[in-house]
Amino acid sequence: SDHRLIYPPHPDQMDWSSLYPDYVVDEPQQDQQTPAPETPSDRELTPARPKRISKDVEVADIGCGFGGLLVALAPLMPETLILGLEIRVSVTQFVEDRIKALRRQNEAAGLYRNVGVLRANTMKFLPNFFRKGQLAKVFICFPDPHFKARKHKQRIVSTTLNSEYAYVLRPGGIVYTITDVPDLHEWMVQHFEAHPSFERVPEDEQEADPCVPIMRTETEEGKKVERHKGQKHVALFRRLEDPAW
Ligand code: SAM
Repeated sequence: SDHRLIYPPHPDQMDWSSLYPDYVVDEPQQDQQTPAPETPSDRELTPARPKRISKDVEVADIGCGFGGLLVALAPLMPETLILGLEIRVSVTQFVEDRIKALRRQNEAAGLYRNVGVLRANTMKFLPNFFRKGQLAKVFICFPDPHFKARKHKQRIVSTTLNSEYAYVLRPGGIVYTITDVPDLHEWMVQHFEAHPSFERVPEDEQEADPCVPIMRTETEEGKKVERHKGQKHVALFRRLEDPAW
């Protein structure tokens, strides 16, 4: 159950400082718009303003599992903040520890400071974390297939959820999908192609994208499928401009 998960009421209230401590901006706690509270009781009623970081998260890995994709992407795009979202408590903790260890081991080079993980149910409240058009890339790697028809509503790709991905992605942004389940691949292609905010990225462009081989080989599931000599089906979708009314 995820009823104890905490979500910010609005992306501006999300405190990213503990995930990306190296990007925290030093600034006075009060500014002109929010005058200092007069009395102690006012102070209690004024929510603490989250510490600001100098950049926005631009890449999200939905259901990041053990974090293979995250740690492979981090050194490749060192200027970009990357976030893994994972619903399982112990798995999220594992990824958190993995990132901390990598940061320590690569302290001199300053690597892995741009990657973080958050426990969240991505089927709920994605727009609470990200503003409209904030993200450049969303990865959906080997999502749980939910084979039975009556379980399809639990799939992480659906008409409703695709509208949320469209909301958080900027025009030109890309959704990356990969699965070893042919039926789920077709489902994802159908649902993204049917959505007015997305078009499929042609295969030549897909194969030229440096993130695609990483998705195939660096995810834990990708490695498992490799060992079992299974097929990997990849599809990328581009966020289109909103139509002019
Ligand atoms: N992407 C990873 C990979 O390729 O190795 C993990 C794939 S694993 C089959 C699917 C992951 O999605 C699991 O770790 C699961 O806990 C997570 N997951 C499932 N539903 C989720 C949700 N609603 N929100 C966040 N994570 C979810």
